[in-house]
Amino acid sequence: MPKRVAAFFYNRLTGLRDFLSLKLTGAYPRPFYVHVEINNTCNLDCVMCPRDRLTRRLTLMDSGLFRSVIRQLAGMGVPSVSLFLFGDPLCHPRLAELVAFARENGIAPEINTNAMVLTEERGRELLDAGLKTIIFSVDGVTPEVFAEVRRGGDLERVRANILRFLDLADRHRPRPTTVIQYAVSKLNEHEVDGFRAFWEGRVDRLNFTRVTEYAGIEGLKTYEYKTQERRPCPDTWSKMVILADGTVTTCCLDLNGELGMGDAA
Ligand code: SF4
Repeated sequence: MPKRVAAFFYNRLTGLRDFLSLKLTGAYPRPFYVHVEINNTCNLDCVMCPRDRLTRRLTLMDSGLFRSVIRQLAGMGVPSVSLFLFGDPLCHPRLAELVAFARENGIAPEINTNAMVLTEERGRELLDAGLKTIIFSVDGVTPEVFAEVRRGGDLERVRANILRFLDLADRHRPRPTTVIQYAVSKLNEHEVDGFRAFWEGRVDRLNFTRVTEYAGIEGLKTYEYKTQERRPCPDTWSKMVILADGTVTTCCLDLNGELGMGDAA
């Protein structure tokens, strides 16, 4: 039986196990969604990004570690992984290979990218590798605002890369889910309507988020965007995070792995 078909049935069985576990014990036996940080390197310096407070080594995840992590997650019946956290996944030169490996193990891979280096060739590679979901982060409509938020980025190039990818994706089977995300802050809130007007209908979903304070990291430049009230996060019950060095943590805002509860390496 092909590996993908076996994984499909295995996932259905683990779904049934989860349901029974929830009914009998009140808890799920596995995370539903895992961030696997394949790299913590990036080609931009976005104004709201906490990467300037990273104390961890800048690195790509070791490929042996990645394979081991994916096999373990597949064994637990985890249905999907996001292959990014504090970095841009397209800065990993073998991203398509990692996407394909997750797929082969029955896990749906997702990425979130700034699209700066999404060439036609890399787009085709990702589609052929079986990427399930792609989220493009584009936090501006005019070149001025975009440049202020996405420092080092080039709006014209990003738009061209995304539009070309969307065209390729429309002709590819299976077609991945496409999302454009806008992190709203004081710098770009006046362009939300323009963003909607430009992107609506071109992708499957528009996603609006609020710039976060990353749980109050000291000295973070995003303090000026203090917009969110603090409230308990339910994600610790359903998500897990594995940082590029293998540190396992509970929270996707845990920039430096301070809540580390294990080591996958
Ligand atoms: S593209 Fe993402 S990881 Fe890179 S600087 Fe911007 S917000 Fe941070």
